[in-house]
Amino acid sequence: MDLSKRITGLTGGGSDGWGVFYRARALIAAGEPVTELTIGEHDIRTAPAILDAMDRAARGGHTGYAVVPGTDTLRQAVAQRVTARTGVPTGPENVLITPGGQSALFAAHHAVCDEGDRALFIDPYYATYPGTIRAVGATPVAVPARPDDGFQPCSTDIADSAARARGARSLLINSPNNPTGAVYTPQTLQGIAEATRAHDLWLISDEVYDTQIWQGTHLSPRALPGMAERTLVVGSMSKSHAMTGSRCGWLVGPAELITHAITLATHTTYGVPGFIQDAAVFALDQGHALEDDIAAPFRRRRDIAHRIIDGQRVVRMIPADGAMYLMLDIRATGLSGEAFANRLLDTHRIAVMPGESFGQAAAGHLRVALTIDDDRFAQAFGLLVRFAGDLAGSAAG
Ligand code: PMP
Repeated sequence: MDLSKRITGLTGGGSDGWGVFYRARALIAAGEPVTELTIGEHDIRTAPAILDAMDRAARGGHTGYAVVPGTDTLRQAVAQRVTARTGVPTGPENVLITPGGQSALFAAHHAVCDEGDRALFIDPYYATYPGTIRAVGATPVAVPARPDDGFQPCSTDIADSAARARGARSLLINSPNNPTGAVYTPQTLQGIAEATRAHDLWLISDEVYDTQIWQGTHLSPRALPGMAERTLVVGSMSKSHAMTGSRCGWLVGPAELITHAITLATHTTYGVPGFIQDAAVFALDQGHALEDDIAAPFRRRRDIAHRIIDGQRVVRMIPADGAMYLMLDIRATGLSGEAFANRLLDTHRIAVMPGESFGQAAAGHLRVALTIDDDRFAQAFGLLVRFAGDLAGSAAG
């Protein structure tokens, strides 16, 4: 029996650049000790107090179908949070609670793209972006950001891509950025806002790392003049509260669009479990202290990496201003990111993601996740940097 082209073509075909990751997982399954610096999963688990809140809610009976848009309390809590953080008046009617940010990314594109439309996104990109766009029947169009600009996208490139891609409806951005660690500057965001206005694009702003800022400040483009009506914000409890497995996120946008996104949710996810939403309300009520505690280890490890990298000239770090990753430029070794990552795995049993896994703009780079304890991180990162030095030395010699 034939399957739909939409589902068989979701990944776009070709290699997805995740070979090193699967090799590392196979080695681990075979009992080999591999240091994994690959995916964005905290090395701590969800806080016991949040689990207690979840348990109380479930035992208190919040285990039936929850209302599809999200509970009033959680929608209100998210609306208040967004208002407080951005200054943009936001009410529960602007919020849909979703099973994670991923589901919000899907709903956002579904809400603004018709079959055959084009949807722009910035390369390097989080792995699911092009597939999410294809899943709604639209065509993904990559706009490259450049390593020499610290992977800050340039408004002229966006405008050029929008002008070339006939039928472009939306632009997806992500700051703090996975995989690069870049935090978009106010100038970058101004340029993005201008380009979306000039080409009448929806702006889909993935802000799931907004509590993990090491340098600069997080600015939500929804707060820029005239942008609230064309911006959709994707948020999540996954990264800010170490609740990746709870699958709780949100989409924020104009009330009319949210009404339609609720109808979409009725026909797809049918909402998020009530006890998870109650736990999310509890977690948000804890305020900044909990979020800062969860973010702190990543900042520490980023500083460790800075200390190790200073004083050598082979590995260049893209300014790592936020999120739980570092992007390293290893082009001086003469190897591709993929070849380097494979050799590092073979020689030192350290697994990192080749930049190529996140698009062509990150070729010759590595993404290192800051997700193991400080001592093991320092040791693995030191080995990686020395390994790069040796490779560059033998290439030169
Ligand atoms: N956006 C980005 C940039 C991510 O890195 C992730 C998860 N790694 C997500 C969205 C989705 O996260 P979740 O569905 O867990 O909220």
